[in-house]
Amino acid sequence: MAEITLRGLAHSYSKTPTASDEYAIRQLDHVWHQGGAYALLGPSGCGKSTLLNIISGLLEPSEGDVLFDGQRVNELPPEERNIAQVFQFPVIYDTMTVYDNLAFPLRNMNIPEYRLDPKVREVADILDLTPLLKRKAKNLTADEKQKVSMGRGLVRDDVSAILFDEPLTVIDPQLKWKLRRKLKEIHERFNITMIYVTHDQLEASTFADKIAVMYDGQVVQFGTPRELFEKPAHTFVGYFIGSPGMNFMEVSHHAGSVMFGDQPVPVASAINQRVAAASSSNIKLGIRPEFIVVSSTPSANALPIQVVALQDLGTYSLLSFTLAGQLFKARLPEGHASMGDSAFAEFPLQHMALYIDEYLVEVGHE
Ligand code: ADP
Ligand code: MG
Repeated sequence: MAEITLRGLAHSYSKTPTASDEYAIRQLDHVWHQGGAYALLGPSGCGKSTLLNIISGLLEPSEGDVLFDGQRVNELPPEERNIAQVFQFPVIYDTMTVYDNLAFPLRNMNIPEYRLDPKVREVADILDLTPLLKRKAKNLTADEKQKVSMGRGLVRDDVSAILFDEPLTVIDPQLKWKLRRKLKEIHERFNITMIYVTHDQLEASTFADKIAVMYDGQVVQFGTPRELFEKPAHTFVGYFIGSPGMNFMEVSHHAGSVMFGDQPVPVASAINQRVAAASSSNIKLGIRPEFIVVSSTPSANALPIQVVALQDLGTYSLLSFTLAGQLFKARLPEGHASMGDSAFAEFPLQHMALYIDEYLVEVGHE
């Protein structure tokens, strides 16, 4: 069991990096607490696998420290770190039976057969592999092979943590759901720290209690699925989490008002003051599609919009509209009134968030 701390971590695959874009991991500080069910979520290429491989010891970071329970482990090889890692594609021995594949990590540790047998059977049972135990691995389907691969990660109960690197990529969608639930069950039963890498927000939020969102080599927010939705700390989180993502307006300050192009936008006074005082010109207002209120009649804080499309998606409708020439999305409740080409949109003050240089600095208040 271990708490995993990453301190001042940076990694470049180049021996002599000169520019910041040559770093796969940039200045990262993070703590994974003992026993947590975590997801590491981010788009392809943002550094997720690099980070996992640094934790497991397959890769030595160019800068910074990896600590297990406060002890620096940078120099420890993977086999001495007591960490199990499950990869995107199955890592199994084709010529061995399923049973022998599952037993392999335990036999490697010289655990006697009478002790490893119940463990192998328990893991096989959890993953529905019992009927396949005597089969040679090479005859399995891709799904089954990946389950064996996961089983090899789960069979040791001495591990400090299990790292999963997009393990369900090759699994069919129906089974994915079931396996994710199994992993959660296993987590609850054994109290092992688990870090689950994915680029899929739904997968992350069904597995994890807390999600680290990674973007361009950095963890830009670490929070519960709800926190990521309600209070995105970085514009990337706003855009990446939610369906569709947050709307953003690049704004400036003019004659006492916050301006989106030529359009004054009503905002809370705290936001107005922040925009007025900002030294950067990278200033954005964010609002989630769920919170935009659309009406066919004008009202005090509502802005005139042009309707582009209205799609009925069953439990809600998705409205695409333009304001000051930019496209926005709003989620409208089922059964709202139909509307013509022109309508009015209100951005409730308490649901507006202000981002300066892409980071959240203020949320609106009524
Ligand atoms: P992710 O797992 O989030 O898709 P990776 O950690 O695999 O991202 O990659 C992060 C960045 O590092 C990418 O720009 C990728 O091209 C680069 N990279 C990954 N592995 C290597 C490698 N072995 N050599 C050089 N560059 C690499
Ligand atoms: Mg990867």
